[in-house]
Amino acid sequence: MTEQIITSINDEIAALYKHSAIQHKTDPATKADAIIEPAPAATGYESSGLLSAALSYAERGWRVCPLYEPLADGKCSCGRLDCGSPGKHPRTRNGLKEATTDAARIQTWWTEWPDANVAIATGRDSGLVVLDVDRPEILNGWQSDTLAAQTGKGQHLYFVLNGAAAKNSVCKLGDGLDLRGDGGYVVAPPSRHATGVSYTWMDFDREPQPAPAWLLQPNPIPEGQRNEILFRMASAMRGKGKDVDEISDELYFVNSNRCVPPLGDEEVRKIAESVMRYKPEVATDPAPTFAGMPLPILLARSRQEPDWIIPSLLKRNNTMFIVGEPKRACKSWLLANLAWDLSEGKPVWRVHHSKNGFLFAPKRPMRVVYFSQEDAEDDFQDRAEIMAKTGRTANDSFWFVPKNLQMTLDSENGIRLVEGELAAAAHAAPIDLIILDPLRRVLQGDESNSERIAEVWRTIDVWSQKFDCSFIVAHHVVKPPRQKGQSYDPASPYVSRGSSDIYAGADAFINVVPGKQKGQPTAGRLLELHFTTKRSREVSPVSVRVNFETGGVEFVGFLNGRDPEDAEK
Ligand SMILES: [Zn+2]
Repeated sequence: MTEQIITSINDEIAALYKHSAIQHKTDPATKADAIIEPAPAATGYESSGLLSAALSYAERGWRVCPLYEPLADGKCSCGRLDCGSPGKHPRTRNGLKEATTDAARIQTWWTEWPDANVAIATGRDSGLVVLDVDRPEILNGWQSDTLAAQTGKGQHLYFVLNGAAAKNSVCKLGDGLDLRGDGGYVVAPPSRHATGVSYTWMDFDREPQPAPAWLLQPNPIPEGQRNEILFRMASAMRGKGKDVDEISDELYFVNSNRCVPPLGDEEVRKIAESVMRYKPEVATDPAPTFAGMPLPILLARSRQEPDWIIPSLLKRNNTMFIVGEPKRACKSWLLANLAWDLSEGKPVWRVHHSKNGFLFAPKRPMRVVYFSQEDAEDDFQDRAEIMAKTGRTANDSFWFVPKNLQMTLDSENGIRLVEGELAAAAHAAPIDLIILDPLRRVLQGDESNSERIAEVWRTIDVWSQKFDCSFIVAHHVVKPPRQKGQSYDPASPYVSRGSSDIYAGADAFINVVPGKQKGQPTAGRLLELHFTTKRSREVSPVSVRVNFETGGVEFVGFLNGRDPEDAEK
């Protein structure tokens, strides 16, 4: 499948070359000469008309920013003797990011630097893509009726984007043919070139024409899908027995040709490396397979041992919600303990039967990535320091990600951020469990909107497969009713706030209910934990105490005498 994709990309690129070849078959010599000759009425500006030019571009909706200019001796006004692009690099601190159509801003810039060269930012935001032709003969006489500028030796052909994506590319279309699109810029007339000539419009009355299809990238992979699609391609290659270098090479190619904007090479390499951690038989071609079978076959097939992250509670690739009232349920203490316990390979919260031993004892230390979206680094450091005092040892398997409210599971940018964190964590070692605490902080949209929740589930699903891990999500409950007599069961997963799709999607729940304190008040909080498991046997509710002095969670016993052997507790 992937080979096909790559072959088809190659075909498309080949076709693209051919297409341009057809375009310029007609009498190359004369047409080329016509292009080399600069148009006479070049700029329509005075030589010092940089400001008015910049303003007129802004008026057309093209974002501009100031560049350094070449000095009389050809050196750059930036003052660096070794400047590699004299008169061609941005002058302001944030460079191209500051490009604007704001007239006042532009006035200020060129008042401060009256000789600054003018850059026009290309790409979607300016609605512009520019074909940078190194030398006119490259086009073999092909002529466009679009707006064009004469550069040092070559030409800039300006095209309208109309909302399409256009990536920057160097020599992808052909030797000496560069494309300036998203994130790129061109030096615009009447800027001066280091050779002393000025950039000039060949005919400024011409309108930029719509960008021809052959100019733009075929099959672009948009932001938000890049990692997933590259990962799937890598999986397919792994399934065919390719090694990490072969996979990387193919991914680099696809990334630079189709991803808009392309990922960094390092990130692409990480995708190739991460896919190598899976068994090849798991990482197969994503072609559809049929899962149905007759009942005798189902009964005859050999059963696989469930891969428990938390035995009795959470299997690999499943998602559990932990719900309770904000603050009172101490969910963050419970989760910090759970994460630390698992990372040490110790039973979670030391919940145990008096005879049958621990309930939630992992087979080995589990690697946990904890997105603590209510704790900044300092807050969690405080929490961890308290816990460390009581004999816990820090270990690499507990990976902490501090609060970043941009990290949302239902926005492209948020997904990119979280995925970046996960990729970084997975780079160190495979991840077993991801904790998102709480849902409200990783959700941009309305938690009652089932489409938003469906987006969250899709994201979790992709990561669950990609990182081969489980999820625990902390979530709040609806407020208890004011009037007595109205039904409200704090131990039921149905009290989770928001769309019922939250309940429908989760594989297990822990409801945290404040317990009834008996006897002396202590520096801690008694909590009842009620378990709902859809994928395993019922787990009896337990009582635990969060000790605020040690930050630890102490197992008190089973509720309702469900474990009579535990009576001495
Ligand atoms: Zn410079």
